[in-house]
Amino acid sequence: MGGSGTLDTAISPPGLGRDIPAHAVGPALTADNWAGDLLATSAAAAQAEWAALTGTERGRVLRRAAEIIRGRNRELSVLESFDTGKPLQETLVADATSGADALEYFGGLAGSLTGEHIPLSGGDFVYTVREPLGVCLGIGAWNYPTQIACWKAAPALACGNAMIFKPSETTPLCALKIAEILIEAGAPAGLFNVVQGFGETGAMLSGHPGIAKVSLTGSVPTGRKVAAQAAGAMKHVTMELGGKSPLIIFDDADLESAISAAINGNFYSSGQICSNGTRVFVHRAIKEAFLARLAERLGNAVIGDPMDEATNFGPMTSAAQLDIALSYVAKGVAEGARLVMGGDRIDRPGFWMTPAIFADVTDSMAIAREEIFGPVMSVLDFEDEADVIARANDTEFGLAGGVFTRDLARAHRVIGQIRAGSCYINTYNLTPVEAPFGGVKASGVGRENSKEAINHYSEVKSVYVCLGETEAAF
Ligand code: NDP
Repeated sequence: MGGSGTLDTAISPPGLGRDIPAHAVGPALTADNWAGDLLATSAAAAQAEWAALTGTERGRVLRRAAEIIRGRNRELSVLESFDTGKPLQETLVADATSGADALEYFGGLAGSLTGEHIPLSGGDFVYTVREPLGVCLGIGAWNYPTQIACWKAAPALACGNAMIFKPSETTPLCALKIAEILIEAGAPAGLFNVVQGFGETGAMLSGHPGIAKVSLTGSVPTGRKVAAQAAGAMKHVTMELGGKSPLIIFDDADLESAISAAINGNFYSSGQICSNGTRVFVHRAIKEAFLARLAERLGNAVIGDPMDEATNFGPMTSAAQLDIALSYVAKGVAEGARLVMGGDRIDRPGFWMTPAIFADVTDSMAIAREEIFGPVMSVLDFEDEADVIARANDTEFGLAGGVFTRDLARAHRVIGQIRAGSCYINTYNLTPVEAPFGGVKASGVGRENSKEAINHYSEVKSVYVCLGETEAAF
């Protein structure tokens, strides 16, 4: 349990060459016996100890953890690939490294989380203090298990909170490694706890009175349930949810760059990325050239063993997700979209399909309206700028959006009207830790990364100081 270092279980992923200590109690956990135990004796105690340190001292531990992660990048990348099926070519540069960035960035900020001084009349003043929330709960999706654990833990711990983290049951390994590394870096036992389980475990935890805040990365339906439960107890929430983001490509765009963005924004991690630009609006004048070149480049995808560093397109993470993606391919065909290429199940052990491109997609088709979370790109035509903006915004989601054009005035004009949290001009899907990340509308509440995240893991206390006498009416 927690970061206590107790070896409750040991997991041996093939090829890793060593056991992984699992800081989690599995079958013994029940609603009655574990949550209060975990929270009262482990996370809450560790939080008090941790919050008593200076920000600089807390930051030192986080930065040390970042260094350890960087030093073990290959080992952690192999683990991420085993957890998710993503190719090692990706995980070597995108997962542990992103987690280390978050720990380093928030470790650097920890010493400067100060309040302010507000002068008032008569020499009175108010000072504000930024205080931790207490024990925060992180709940993760299965597509980026290391990154999600670190993006939540780093700002939470920097602010003086403890965290209990529930990974997706599909990808249980990576967060355990982060717990181990934080302990090695000097975090007190119980500060970052990993609890394994299904959705019901997440629900039990988020409903627990000892939890001050819930940060979920997951789907919109889960987000609605978790936010509703948290609202009942007036808990803070951060919701990083799904999307169906627009990528708008004008006829003056740099075509090769636009195609690169469409490939990254639909097929990286086999399309299992929340901010993907899955509705690719292409100006009618360049549509056929775009499709021909896209198909040509997609033909160069290296589909194969994720542990082979030449592979750049791997399997889906689970059989369930593969079935969902294939069912949308069938829906697209049934709805009359043109399947340009791909969308076939690959006959090899595991959850494999070829990346799919649909053209002639219309706004009302299911493949254009619903999040698929798989390698299925929908290409839609447009001619008019105002029309494409209206169509891009005609969705319940608002996570991301992108525009490709050489006309910078048009780029800013268009992006200024896109209702989404993370927008891109002439690139797509970059998520540096220095920039806020998160959605509007059904795509979520709150922001991860950047200084913005500090506001979501702390609250401000105002202290009014009176230098004169206090008067009353009677
Ligand atoms: P889910 O919503 O199915 O699950 C997310 C997490 O919530 C899992 O750990 C799950 O447990 C848990 N959970 C499920 N039900 C509850 C509940 N009632 N109370 C508390 N926790 C619960 O999402 P997926 O794991 O399938 O991930 C895919 C989704 O995540 C996509 O919609 C994607 O867009 C979104 N996502 C968003 C990102 C963002 O930053 N905006 C980034 C990555 C993904 P378990 O599954 O183990 O049962």
